[in-house]
Amino acid sequence: MKKILVLHTGGTISMHEDQDGDVETGLNNPLIDVKMAIPNVDLTVESIFNLPSEHIGPEHMLQLQRRILAAENEFDGVVITHGTDTLEETSFFLDSTLSVDFPIVMTGAMRSSNELGSDGLYNYHSALRVASHENSRNRGVLVVMNDEIHAARFVTKTHTTNVATFGSPISGTMGLLTKRQIIFFYDLPKRLVLPVAHVQKSIPVLKAYAGMDGQLLELLATANIDGMVIEALGAGNLSKEAATGVHYLLSRNIPVVIVSRSFNGVAEPVYDYLGGGVQLERDGVIFATSINGQKARLKLLIGLDNQLNNHDLHDYLHQL
Ligand code: ASP
Repeated sequence: MKKILVLHTGGTISMHEDQDGDVETGLNNPLIDVKMAIPNVDLTVESIFNLPSEHIGPEHMLQLQRRILAAENEFDGVVITHGTDTLEETSFFLDSTLSVDFPIVMTGAMRSSNELGSDGLYNYHSALRVASHENSRNRGVLVVMNDEIHAARFVTKTHTTNVATFGSPISGTMGLLTKRQIIFFYDLPKRLVLPVAHVQKSIPVLKAYAGMDGQLLELLATANIDGMVIEALGAGNLSKEAATGVHYLLSRNIPVVIVSRSFNGVAEPVYDYLGGGVQLERDGVIFATSINGQKARLKLLIGLDNQLNNHDLHDYLHQL
């Protein structure tokens, strides 16, 4: 018998549509009363929050992380239901800060409980299947939706409304659920997991664009921020003016992390001219490999909380 802890946090999977077609949250999470029967699985169900995922931030993620750590010796796996808007961030935070070998599986829904074609209970059932499967151990945090398994490290929400919203553009889908099987296609390279104690840091994320000037960056340099993430152009480049703004931030010892605003691919220094990635790196920016802006922000937060020195912070953000 596998003992699985279910933590409900809210999101569309716990919401319902009213008569005008607007989707709303009820006072209590209705999933608490759903009886899910999986052979040889014993469920303990808790409603840790009942929040749309836009209301979930690093403090909630830390609370979830602590609940999972406390469950380590008592359970064989954890399932978390969560709103899809920030699911990739919570999954990435947990993946980056928890080194437990049991499966941690997150899921959600794109259609609320009483909508035609609601995917909530199906995804919940799928997540329980994956969490109770022996092959799911030691894989970090997994995201299960729409018959697919994704690694928290690479998964992102790709569509506003489609039930097939989660994808892993860089690595590809990690596995599949079929009627009778759970199939994993690959293992991920080992990752450095760091603890985290405090999550109150000011780390804005800014998207680069053609003609971007340095004004906002210079303003931010005087606004007491702890760090900055820029979704740069292409492989990791900026306009000349933005590069000057970045220089200003760096001169004030504010770490600047570069990812790409492109949906797919890895950011790395390639171009050697003003604003090009090579010169940005020479100036001291940190290239975060293969993660998007919202994940780089969490990684910088964790690195800063661990007081990594400049060299280690570069290495930490650079690793896959
Ligand atoms: N806005 C919702 C949320 O993230 C979307 C969802 O759950 O699908 O809470």
